[in-house]
Amino acid sequence: MLLREVEYVKPSSVADALTTLAGNDGARALAGGQTLINVMKARAASPDVLVDLNGLDDLKGIELGADGTLTIGPMTTYTELIESAEARARPILGEVCAQIADVQVRNRGTIGGNLCSNDPTNHLPPLMAAIGAQLTITGAGGERTVPAADFFLGVYMTAVAQDELLTKITIPAGKRDGFAAVTLGVDGTCIANAAASMNGSLRIALGCVDAVPVVIEADSADDVREAVRAAKLDPPGDVHASSAYRAHLAEVLAERAARQATR
Ligand SMILES: Cc1cc2nc3c(=O)[nH]c(=O)nc-3n(C[C@H](O)[C@H](O)[C@H](O)COP(=O)(O)OP(=O)(O)OC[C@H]3O[C@@H](n4cnc5c(N)ncnc54)[C@H](O)[C@@H]3O)c2cc1C
Repeated sequence: MLLREVEYVKPSSVADALTTLAGNDGARALAGGQTLINVMKARAASPDVLVDLNGLDDLKGIELGADGTLTIGPMTTYTELIESAEARARPILGEVCAQIADVQVRNRGTIGGNLCSNDPTNHLPPLMAAIGAQLTITGAGGERTVPAADFFLGVYMTAVAQDELLTKITIPAGKRDGFAAVTLGVDGTCIANAAASMNGSLRIALGCVDAVPVVIEADSADDVREAVRAAKLDPPGDVHASSAYRAHLAEVLAERAARQATR
């Protein structure tokens, strides 16, 4: 289906992008377009103005700090994360990005777009929640930083308001992480997924079972299935998986991710 007519703006600075967003409540940021353009074609979203972030170098790049902290611009693509020497400081990032869809989507799709769309089947929201990423949001009033576990508010809803931008993703040092998913075919959409990280305690974030990642803690990988049961999940059921099957997958995948993180 063709797009309906839409105004297109390509700002030359983050400040200009924010001014355009604030000046029109029908304006939306355009990152890789891999979700937004498709929902526009389906008429599920109908912005008046697309504010293309692709010219903004301030929103790109991956920096590795001396303490192992990674600072990632939201306009960094999955392919850039997979190929980056710096991002290998947290190997799970490239490992999970390499599982997202196909090469075309990985070349265009961005970490920021993945998080800001908060499709509950996406790979990166549970990963960011498990590894304790901090997300910096910028608007006219300045910057604020939100832990990933508080960033996701509902299906397609996050802490980023219409007149704000996600401007930075900060990932602490660490290597003891895991991720497991059951997908629709090879490289397909997740039916259920789980990310885990061992950093003092074992933290697991479950995807596809609620509107936002469900974060649970466990003492060890042996305790994970019990911890998932205790969370009393009530996942949605659909043509791909009943609610009960998704809840079962959440247990199995949480344990797999936890074993990878603790091996
Ligand atoms: C065929 C296909 C299969 C896919 N399979 C998967 C999959 O298996 N797993 C997965 O995780 N994803 C999958 N995706 C989605 C893909 O990863 C998208 O790239 C991602 O969800 C959105 O990223 P984007 O850069 O394309 O953002 P866009 O589509 O441009 O934007 C998405 C939303 O985020 C907002 N936004 C973007 N950047 C910012 C910012 N910096 N600040 C504020 N708001 C912002 C936009 O306004 C929009 O509302 C698939 C997509 C396709 C087309």
